Amino acid sequence: MQPLPPFKLAPYFQTRIWGADNLEPWFQHHAAPDEPVGEVWLTGANCTVATGPLSGQNFAAAVKEHASAILGAAFATEAEYPLLVKVLFPREKLSVQVHPDDALAQQKGEPRGKSECWYALEAQPGAKVALGLAPGATEDSVRAAIANSTLEDLLGWLPLATGDLVYVDAGTVHAIWPGSVILEVLQTSDTTYRLYDYGRPRELHIDLSLEAMRLTTGAGRVTRTPGRRGETVLVDEQYFRVERWEGDAAGLSAAAAAEGGPQLLFAAAGTLRVEGEFEPFTLGRCELAVIPAAASRWEARGEAEVMRIVPQGAPESAASLLEGALS
Ligand SMILES: [Zn+2]
Repeated sequence: MQPLPPFKLAPYFQTRIWGADNLEPWFQHHAAPDEPVGEVWLTGANCTVATGPLSGQNFAAAVKEHASAILGAAFATEAEYPLLVKVLFPREKLSVQVHPDDALAQQKGEPRGKSECWYALEAQPGAKVALGLAPGATEDSVRAAIANSTLEDLLGWLPLATGDLVYVDAGTVHAIWPGSVILEVLQTSDTTYRLYDYGRPRELHIDLSLEAMRLTTGAGRVTRTPGRRGETVLVDEQYFRVERWEGDAAGLSAAAAAEGGPQLLFAAAGTLRVEGEFEPFTLGRCELAVIPAAASRWEARGEAEVMRIVPQGAPESAASLLEGALS
C-alpha cells in the first residue's frame, strides 16, 4: 500500500441557534448576522483536506477513496472516519437529548450509535452540563415531565471546570448548558433524539428518545490517569481514547508513530510542526491533523498542548454488522 503523509483538515463552521457570533480567541471566524456558529467540525463530511497530495478534496471523499491507507485494515470497512471531532460554543442551552447505541441505531437503519465525550477547553464559573437522570426517575416520570415542561428538574447535573473530561455513553439523557468551550469527540453519527427544547420550534422525538434512554448509564466525569510515556489519559472507552500531551512534541510523535493505526492530533495550545518527506505543515490552536494508519514517516516538533485522539472498537465494526444484516 502507498503510504500517505499526515495532513491537516480545514474546519467547517456549522450554524446552530444556540451558538456564538464571535469565536475568538479560538477561531478567527466571524459568523454572519443571525447565523451563530454552535459547532466547528474539525473532522466530518464537510471538512476539506488542507495539505498534501489530497489537498482540496472533501474529507469524506478522501476517506472513501483511501480507506485502507487512512483507516487501516481494522476500520477499512467503515468507509467513513469513525470519529467526529468538534469544538462547541454553547451560548444558550442545547436541547435535552439522547443518542441510540449501535444496536438500536442499526435497527433504525443507521450505521452506528453515538457515544461521545466532552473536554472543557474553557469553563467559566458556574458552567455545567446535564448528565443522566436524577435517582428515582422512571420512564413514566420522564414522559410526564416532558409534557409539563419540567424535564430539567429530573436531570442530574455536573459542574464543569477547565480541563474536565465528561464521558457520555449512548443512552444517557444529556444537555450542555452555556459557559464553556468544549472539544467533543464522538462516534460518527447524525442521530440525535430531542426530549425537550425549551419551547424552541425544533422537532422533538419523544418516543424514540424513551426507546434509546437508559435510566442508569456509565456517564460521568472521568478521572485522568498517567500514561506510560509521559502523556495523560483523559478517557479510554469503547470507541475512543483521548490523551493529552504537553511540552516538547518529540515524545508525542515518537509514541504515535510507534503505535501506528489511525489517529488524530488536535492542538489545544502552542504550535506543532509536522514534517517528513512531504510538504510540512503547522498546527496552531484548534487545528487538527489526520495521521493515516499507513502514514509515511513523520515527526512533530514544537512546544504544544496536543490531544491525541485514537479510534477504537473496530472488531465488530458497524459497517460489517450492517453488511452481515443485509446479505
Ligand atoms: Zn449529544
